[in-house]
Amino acid sequence: MTSTQESFELALSGKRISSNTSFAAVIGDPVKHSLSPVIHNVGFHSLGIDWVYVACEVKEGEAQSALDAMKALGLRGLSVTMPHKIAIASLVDSVSSAAQALHSVNTVEVATDGSLVGHSTDGDGLVASLVEQGVAVDGKTILILGAGGAARSVIDALQRHACRQIFVVNRSLDHAQTAVTLAPSIAQAISIADIAALTEAAANSDIIINATSVGMIKGSEIVSKNVLVSPIAVDLIRPDHIVMDLVYHPIETELLRQTRHRGALGIDGLGMLVHQAALQQQIWTGLVPDVSDMYQAALQALA
Ligand code: NAP
Repeated sequence: MTSTQESFELALSGKRISSNTSFAAVIGDPVKHSLSPVIHNVGFHSLGIDWVYVACEVKEGEAQSALDAMKALGLRGLSVTMPHKIAIASLVDSVSSAAQALHSVNTVEVATDGSLVGHSTDGDGLVASLVEQGVAVDGKTILILGAGGAARSVIDALQRHACRQIFVVNRSLDHAQTAVTLAPSIAQAISIADIAALTEAAANSDIIINATSVGMIKGSEIVSKNVLVSPIAVDLIRPDHIVMDLVYHPIETELLRQTRHRGALGIDGLGMLVHQAALQQQIWTGLVPDVSDMYQAALQALA
């Protein structure tokens, strides 16, 4: 039996599923290895409510069919992952301000009038994860590595949570330049190849966030394939930096290992994943699940 199956059993042990059970789902492709069912079922269990959560593989181009099915089948909540986040944003009846800014939806809520409302909880999940570690973002200067979907949701949330300045460092400068338009008055784009600008930005930053996919492989594979293992040179990390890696597989990335070796605080990406799921449950149920239970279940499933 896999850890994921064990976590499911933990969440569902003693649970009776009946015609009254509410259900929610994640749609995506691929979705078979998603941690969301484990995290959400444990969250519902912590709330003591009669909900279950499943993963549904939905092919690209089938987002509208999935929303139609959501309505027809009476799903109470939907999580959305790649490749549907952008398509769903233009198919729901209305969107939150974050989803509107990002043109991306990771959560669908059924409003009391039956209309479908799209939200984006990734960025606020990151902020909640930092706060849980005692790190406030207001007034801080933040260096973000990467300019893809995750980085964009982080930029949007950091701006809403009153951070002072954001540097967006990316391999493709044009992607960074597009991303900073989300926070034009405080964000600046830097090419990863501009070592002088990157060094100065790191020196002026309180928090460094890796939102690239660099580091998203196992240690032995890193060595054997000789690929980039960390998105930033270790000597740019000071002991008073706070470094967060959005990559959570492996849970201790090379960046986090180097960060801790330098004596700085390193925060893994699983906290963000769990907090954004907790925010989804709050949207669907109005209740706050036990984030610590959800984190432990996700950790167990990853192991
Ligand atoms: P994405 O949209 O595909 O963006 C990928 C980013 O990584 C881009 O900025 C890309 O640069 C950069 N990149 C990729 N390979 C690189 C390399 N070899 N060297 C330098 N830069 C490289 O992906 P995403 O959705 O933003 O996700 C990014 C990471 O965050 C993934 O590892 C994902 O698993 C993780 N994530 C975690 C959470 C969480 O809850 N913890 C949530 C969302 C995402 P270019 O622009 O130059 O291509």
